Amino acid sequence: MRGVVVAVDGPAGTGKSSVSRGLARALNAHYLDTGAMYRIVTLAMLRAEVDLLDPEAIAAAADVTLSVGHDPNVDSAFLDGEDVSAEIRGDEVTRAVSAVSAVPQVRTRLVALQRELASGSDNVVVEGRDIGTVVLPDADVKVFLTASAETRASRRNDQNVAVGLADDFETVLADVRRRDHLDSTRALSPLRPADDAVIVDTSEMTEAEVVAHLLQLVEQRSEAVR
Ligand code: C5P
Repeated sequence: MRGVVVAVDGPAGTGKSSVSRGLARALNAHYLDTGAMYRIVTLAMLRAEVDLLDPEAIAAAADVTLSVGHDPNVDSAFLDGEDVSAEIRGDEVTRAVSAVSAVPQVRTRLVALQRELASGSDNVVVEGRDIGTVVLPDADVKVFLTASAETRASRRNDQNVAVGLADDFETVLADVRRRDHLDSTRALSPLRPADDAVIVDTSEMTEAEVVAHLLQLVEQRSEAVR
């Protein structure tokens, strides 16, 4: 029997990652962080000093050996067998990832891998930008998280301050807007909700409230398909 497949999409700073992990725990499900996969490929490009303004050069270097874990409690990302789970969260990768994820050959390869990882009999929560629209259009539950740019920047800035980085709301806000623009206007798989996605604005909600709300959606949907 196939497990329940939940797609969680939305821009950065909506609490998507924490919420997806929380939902996976509550459902005893596997968790797949597709953003981490784009980040690993980006790190490989930076290390190989690939020209990020040259999509053909990115495409030619896209065949990297990567893996990610499926435990929502463990951050696990590997490049050529090396644990890069901390490095892929750094500023350098964050700044470069939109250029890499816009390249069709990168997407084709990662989407195939994502479909393979999400298949099987386990419940799975898959987090990304194009999961409900492209990767898993048959997902049982599709959620699109949103929040205002200011709320998202403020959350990201708080995270930065908590790990000892500079307190700079304006710069973070500019970066949030820049990434939103790049991700939503790219030709291939732009960030947008699937027609059948439930849109949840998390601006005024706590993480626990969002998880509880999504759990309810999953339960309703599972009853409906049973
Ligand atoms: O979710 P996270 O911020 O780690 O994603 C990093 C980047 O990877 C995004 O800004 C986006 O460019 C890309 N991405 C994507 N499609 C996905 C997941 C992430 O293009 N399914």
